[in-house]
Amino acid sequence: MPHPATGTRTTATHCPYCSLQCGVTMTAGDRPATLVPADFPVNRGGLCSKGWSAPELLDHPERLTRPLVRAVPGDRTSPLVESTWDDALDRIVTAVRTTQDRHGRDAVGCFGGGGLTNEQAYQFGKFARVALRTSAIDYNGRFCMSSAAGAAIKALGLDRGMPFPLADVAEADVVVLVGSNPADTMPPAMQYFDAGRARGAELIVVDPRRTNTAKNASLHLQPLPGTDLALANGLLHIALAEGLVDEAYIAARTTGFDDVRAGVAGYWPDRVERLTGVPVAQQRRTVFALARGKRAIILSARGAEQHRSGTDTALAWINLALALGLPGREGSGWGTVTGQGNGQGGREHGQKADQLPGYRKITDPAARAHVAAVWGVDPESIPGPGRSAFEMLDALGTDGGVRTMLVLASNIAVSAPDARRVISRLGNLDFLAVSDFFLSETAELADVVLPSAMWAEEEGTMTNLEGRVVRRRQAMSAPDGVRDDLQSLAELAGRLGAAGFSGDAGTVFAELGRASAGGAADYSGISYDRIDAEDGVFWPCPQTPAGAPEHPGTPRLFTERFATPDGRARFHRVEHVDAHERPDAQYPYVLTTGRVLAQYQSGTQTRRSRSLQLIAPTPRAELHPDLARTLGIAQGDAVELATRRGRARFHAQVTDTIRPDVVFVPFHWGGGASANALTDPALDPTSRMPAFKVCAVAVTRVGVA
Ligand code: SF4
Repeated sequence: MPHPATGTRTTATHCPYCSLQCGVTMTAGDRPATLVPADFPVNRGGLCSKGWSAPELLDHPERLTRPLVRAVPGDRTSPLVESTWDDALDRIVTAVRTTQDRHGRDAVGCFGGGGLTNEQAYQFGKFARVALRTSAIDYNGRFCMSSAAGAAIKALGLDRGMPFPLADVAEADVVVLVGSNPADTMPPAMQYFDAGRARGAELIVVDPRRTNTAKNASLHLQPLPGTDLALANGLLHIALAEGLVDEAYIAARTTGFDDVRAGVAGYWPDRVERLTGVPVAQQRRTVFALARGKRAIILSARGAEQHRSGTDTALAWINLALALGLPGREGSGWGTVTGQGNGQGGREHGQKADQLPGYRKITDPAARAHVAAVWGVDPESIPGPGRSAFEMLDALGTDGGVRTMLVLASNIAVSAPDARRVISRLGNLDFLAVSDFFLSETAELADVVLPSAMWAEEEGTMTNLEGRVVRRRQAMSAPDGVRDDLQSLAELAGRLGAAGFSGDAGTVFAELGRASAGGAADYSGISYDRIDAEDGVFWPCPQTPAGAPEHPGTPRLFTERFATPDGRARFHRVEHVDAHERPDAQYPYVLTTGRVLAQYQSGTQTRRSRSLQLIAPTPRAELHPDLARTLGIAQGDAVELATRRGRARFHAQVTDTIRPDVVFVPFHWGGGASANALTDPALDPTSRMPAFKVCAVAVTRVGVA
């Protein structure tokens, strides 16, 4: 209800950015809108600078409010000019038809994002398979969560980032964080770690940088990037040698341990110290802390997972957790800290190349039959698996590759590895359509740009890092000329002759629930009303028969059995392999990338926020003082970083918080300061995750401060 005097109204919704999905209360009516943090069970009144600043962008002068098209159709050197929705959608439909007539259905591709609502992600997957009948769809979560997801499915039978509520972290006696920096990426989450620390719990951080999270830790392990697998195997070696493994748990709840036992035999502590740089004493202290904690949690994140061996690395940490008897025990376990706002839900509803809604395999005949029945199509008409994200991008414009592409909620010109190669591939397309709020670096390359609604202007659901499904509620109308992606997809599907697409979030959520029923990520018992009443509902939450009590949702997984056919978790023997690129005479240092507090993902939004720009206006390359001295670099000097892919320039941040052999740059910028112009696209064979977190680099001073 609007306020009777001011005409404003308040709406409970969630921050648009990271996977914590902090609850906020928005006041809107008179623009500009404002927000305050809510006492939601996740953020408990906390909010970070990104969340506080989010309303600034709703009225930003660069906001797109009209579709843009090329002044000369087909000529991307001609300017983008404002047009009508009719014209923009017509151009997309014409391009789709022309491309598919000439080159086949798979020549039209879709690229989605982990920022889409569950409803939008579901609709995008259905749009690709039903309206376009193409196998060519994947999303930017392939660059984010795919390694941990692949490992969790192999070992535990199910991927839900954290298989327990965040509140468990505050109750744990020891938490080991591997390649995760929540103090900068999701500061309100630190209250859980801080509560544990205040009780005397151990927080052990594994990170090549002494991050703000590591500064709060009781112990900081500082391994060389790309050696986390060796470290985990080494910790398990010590646990075995010291009789710390939980043999009863291993016998009752797992299979495959003997092979792993043999596999870690060669990971002697001194060898692991040589490989990783982590002293033996620190290895031992970590293992004893984990084994002696009544409640113990291991959380990994992108620092450990964005590697060519990312899946195996996540498996190594799961092996350790299983050997110590942690998963499924109350207040204990292994989990992964999802990054993007809907990084969890984004991978459950069918926008992945190999999956259908409900986190089902697209190759599974029963899954295809179930989803086809919900969609009202012949199961045979649903295409098979397509290429993974980078493989699809790398083949753009080639024979057998995608020639016309629709991109939603993703700025791949900045976020993809070897970004300049990807930009060049985008130039090979016959036609590119991008939906976004702003003219991102990817949208700048498009033939058609659709202006999409922002978070406060749309309805839907998001699934946070705990697997809690929350409501994104509309707090205000979108500007004239702007549409929700759900509506755009429904309109496009209709123009392509496909029936059964709705622009209404509630209708799509109900259908998503039916499509997910019986799948791993079962949402069929979740409704908007239940989410409202219960502050979110944890999946899986199947629908119960009429008259039976509602399923309560599942905050904690694996308490009785794992999601494997026999209910037992699987150990997997994994071995350390050297990073795809190692330092050499030409590129003598290790480059790693990550985030800073006041920016988010590819920066499409946060680089336009005036208040965030005051905090983090430019990207900085972190160098240890010893390395800076060797190279004659002083604080603030301009430095050029060069790898086998390209070059980029940054200002030097000389700091002793980083290893002397490692250089760190944030990945939120494009152009001449593009971290991903440098990164290595070598792919993990299981997850197809690129090796974002380690490559060889040369550093040169090119200007003084
Ligand atoms: Fe938003 Fe994440 Fe910050 Fe919370 S922690 S305010 S969800 S960016």
